[in-house]
Amino acid sequence: MNEKDILCINCAKEVLGREFAPDDFTPSAINLGAGGILSYFSAKGKWQSVDDKKKIEGLREKFKSNYGPVCGLNEWEKLSPEVIANFDLREYRKWFSAEQLENDWLPCSRCNISVWGDSGIDKGLNSGYLLQNQLWNKIWEKFKQ
Ligand SMILES: [Zn+2]
Repeated sequence: MNEKDILCINCAKEVLGREFAPDDFTPSAINLGAGGILSYFSAKGKWQSVDDKKKIEGLREKFKSNYGPVCGLNEWEKLSPEVIANFDLREYRKWFSAEQLENDWLPCSRCNISVWGDSGIDKGLNSGYLLQNQLWNKIWEKFKQ
């Protein structure tokens, strides 16, 4: 994915032509942390079915077992995936200045609204997100046609 190749979540959905399911997203801190697209959608009443809740739980568990915290979080095995995700995002943000974080967004290639970067800053529908690679490639190819 080129650095400038980005679509906001609404445009991505419209190009794809269907609603997203939780397992369209990767088990990553940016998706699972506070303000991430998964918690945003859940808070808005999306994904209330038993099946969707299972998929979300699967992502949370995968994130925790595959990745865990980046570093230095004591007894992280006892913590929830969200706590670990938020810790990771906070650690990641320490690498950047306030100004860099403030400018960590790109315009959606389709509708031009700001889409925030990987630092996981809570911007609701404008928050960054990570879709499964294959799905993202499919959306991007469809958009480019
Ligand atoms: Zn857009």
